[in-house]
Amino acid sequence: MVTVMKFGGTSVGSGERIRHVANIVVNRKKEDKDVVVVVSAMSEVTNALIEISQQALNIRDIDKISDFINFIKEKHYKAIEESIKSEIIKKDVKKIIDSRIDELEKVLIGVAYLGELTPKSRDYILSFGERLSSPILAGSIRDLGEKSIALEGGEAGIITDDNFGNARVKKLKVKECLTPLLKEGIIPVVTGFIGVTEEGNITTLGRGGSDYSAALIGYGLDADIIEIWTDVSGVYTTDPKLVPTAKRIPKLSYIEAMELAYFGAKVLHPRTIEPAMEKGIPILVKNTFEPENEGTLITNDIEMSDNIVKAITTIKNVALINIFGAGMVGVSGTSARIFKALGKYNVNVILISQGSSETNISIVISEEDVDKALKALKEEFGDFGKKSFLNNNLIRDVMVDKDVCVVSVVGAGMKGAKGIAGKIFTAVSESGANIKMIAQGSSEVNISFVIDEKDLINCVRKLHEKFIEKPN
Ligand code: ADP
Ligand code: ASP
Ligand code: MG
Repeated sequence: MVTVMKFGGTSVGSGERIRHVANIVVNRKKEDKDVVVVVSAMSEVTNALIEISQQALNIRDIDKISDFINFIKEKHYKAIEESIKSEIIKKDVKKIIDSRIDELEKVLIGVAYLGELTPKSRDYILSFGERLSSPILAGSIRDLGEKSIALEGGEAGIITDDNFGNARVKKLKVKECLTPLLKEGIIPVVTGFIGVTEEGNITTLGRGGSDYSAALIGYGLDADIIEIWTDVSGVYTTDPKLVPTAKRIPKLSYIEAMELAYFGAKVLHPRTIEPAMEKGIPILVKNTFEPENEGTLITNDIEMSDNIVKAITTIKNVALINIFGAGMVGVSGTSARIFKALGKYNVNVILISQGSSETNISIVISEEDVDKALKALKEEFGDFGKKSFLNNNLIRDVMVDKDVCVVSVVGAGMKGAKGIAGKIFTAVSESGANIKMIAQGSSEVNISFVIDEKDLINCVRKLHEKFIEKPN
């Protein structure tokens, strides 16, 4: 009976919270279970690491790095003080923290002196968030009388490719790495978010990737359950921070959860579901600050609710790219060339739609990928923007709109439901938003569209009211 319990950044946001988490873990272990813990960086630490690495590169100010190091040291020292009582354990944990912070300072100074920040060194810097939080949580668990050790993702058997920043799993040696510890009654506390390449370089799995780490460990150990402990009581009908009337969804199917996560429900990293689904391991989303709440259970079962629509999600910080070209008409393989070119530069395409006239292809990508995408398209198709047909370019023009967002409406009941799209688009127009692009997910449990970001809140509130609060 193995339980994987993943705790997010807010759940371990202070020493007091770490102590609370340690208590939850120890109580579970007492139920005679093998427990593996996966932990994120303390809240805001990953963002701060991103910012300081960028500053080290651009401003190259050593004093700024010193200030940052002091801030990180204080934050984690305070957490140790509040979460661990035994002086011996405190000393032990401080030693680890000191040596890691020392290492972090050296790397940041290196970036400032060299004026170079490669994706590889950036991942290495980002890994410190989890590599600092995990020894503290393991110490706090020991302080409560259970055996526990902190492990890095690589030490727990997560081996990835070298796609730094968004690494993919190549091999899982989780069973070999963790079973001997579990046999000795030890609770491993594994860093979320990070893996290691076969050459030994630390990689990260993409923002919010600790959920994915938990799923990989659950998969590797054939766990009975993967629990995602966070700061809300499960998966909601929409982001409860955006719409206060959002409701908890007690049960979801893997497919629904996958769509929800992929289209912006930040509570689960998009890649979390797949490993669990493959082995039929249930995922339970729980609230660290309200453990008695049942949360959301994600399994194979499709639970039909009275509402056709189960949830509404949003993705911000995206860009809509419209690719125009009369030259594309009847030319087979143009789309394939477009996606191949984008793939070469690792541009992740979120949505695609092709006009029936074949003269226009629209895609949605992350805002941060826009420059890469334009470069890729120019490399493949030559310079566009010279708008005369005489140039005989396949692509005549590319327009980029960055002030947009994606809204998705998700629910297994939408499959085959007649007139649902019409109802959705009427509601969107009633909210005052203008739809710039539409795409229906291939699984038919999702309809997604693009609107101006300024219209986001009104649109989501309107859809939530019409389809979830008052569906009839
Ligand atoms: P953690 O640090 O625990 O991983 P995250 O911040 O990554 O937590 O994810 C939890 C947050 O996801 C919630 O605080 C909530 O604002 C946001 N969220 C967005 N959409 C949803 C949704 N549909 N249901 C629940 N939470 C959502
Ligand atoms: N700490 C990482 C992030 O902020 C991973 C995670 O929290 O899941 O993206
Ligand atoms: Mg998260």
